Amino acid sequence: MNKYLSLIAAAGLLFSCEPKNSEIDYTQLSDAERLELAQEIAQSTIMVDGHVDLPYRMKVGGFTLQREILDVSVRTPDGNFDYPRSKEGGLDAPFMSIYIPAGNQAIPGASKALADSLILMTERLANTFPDKFAMAYSPADVEANFEKGLISLPMGMENGSGLEDDLANVEYFHKRGIRYITLTHGKDNLIGDASYDTTGTHGGLSEYGEKVVAEMNRVGIMVDLSHVSDNTFRDALAITKVPVIASHSSARKFTPGFERNMSDELITAMAENGGVMMINFGGTFIDSAYAAGSSKVREHLVNYMVDNGLSRSDSAFRAYAAEYSAANNPFPTVQRVADHIDHVVSLVGIDHVGFGSDFDGVGDSLPTGLKDVSMFPNLIAELLKRGYSKEDIEKICYKNIFRVWKAVEDYAASQR
Ligand SMILES: [Zn+2]
Repeated sequence: MNKYLSLIAAAGLLFSCEPKNSEIDYTQLSDAERLELAQEIAQSTIMVDGHVDLPYRMKVGGFTLQREILDVSVRTPDGNFDYPRSKEGGLDAPFMSIYIPAGNQAIPGASKALADSLILMTERLANTFPDKFAMAYSPADVEANFEKGLISLPMGMENGSGLEDDLANVEYFHKRGIRYITLTHGKDNLIGDASYDTTGTHGGLSEYGEKVVAEMNRVGIMVDLSHVSDNTFRDALAITKVPVIASHSSARKFTPGFERNMSDELITAMAENGGVMMINFGGTFIDSAYAAGSSKVREHLVNYMVDNGLSRSDSAFRAYAAEYSAANNPFPTVQRVADHIDHVVSLVGIDHVGFGSDFDGVGDSLPTGLKDVSMFPNLIAELLKRGYSKEDIEKICYKNIFRVWKAVEDYAASQR
């Protein structure tokens, strides 16, 4: 037995009887030893990701009833998620983002129609590969799928515009399997104001939005406050009867002025309510210097494209863009994501943080060491290095989000 295997065996023994105070001091291990342990933890622990944009990638990539161009049951050259890489990384339950672009809001019925079609596509993925994927509508479903080695596909709707102007659609989408709704996306909608929009249509949550939150509480859909404006955030927190989530938001401390991330005030208020924020891995979410650099790079690349008569899909352009970006705006690293987790933990403790990668939604900006779902162990190894215990990591991986999800289920059950 080599050194690493005996180390893992020893750790396994400790994990199984959980004598907390005699747990290995991971900070004393080498990086290679910690990575081995992190891989073991990733495989043996349920891991939930609050936000993966696979359904929209499938829509664009053509996973339709007629054609299967994009098949994520096998390794895919592009994108951040597929079955083999998810297995490698130990990711068991990526929330499938049923993403509705704000552009659909202008056309009555278009948001709901798109949500329905993305839900069908997600169900079709599970039905086409029942030995690999399964739908999941509760923490109990995720646990049962995990025991069978299946990757769960719980669903969250990103943009409450899918509800259109009809409160009855909250219950409809619960029946369709939606388990969280992000109240807005990039633009103000009927429910409330969005962080990327400066219009201030309602000054926060609208009167209709208040009814939506109450109805989500009643039927058992988690309230997701990623993307909303600070005022909408505060208004929703003030009226919800159960803890909330932020499915893919990072800490504003590292990106001053970026309202899409959560301020310390909001993190504290969310924690007092018992909620959980799931950290977004996107480079522009975790590092303001990278965000500033990437807008400069984008401007240069657009000019280069025009000057040289190239299009975005030309291989010559793509090669130039990759080289230019790497030289002029280096990616943040996996350590930066751990900094966000550290910050939340230092502010409100270990019970209010999780992973909400935004994989398949922020592809080009992902940090070095965390480019796709296979690389979760790198982040876990970094947390071990910083002194996080296995119990802490289990909370981040699934126990925190399960606590909120169960509280939402329990409240809904009490209302029937
Ligand atoms: Zn988003």
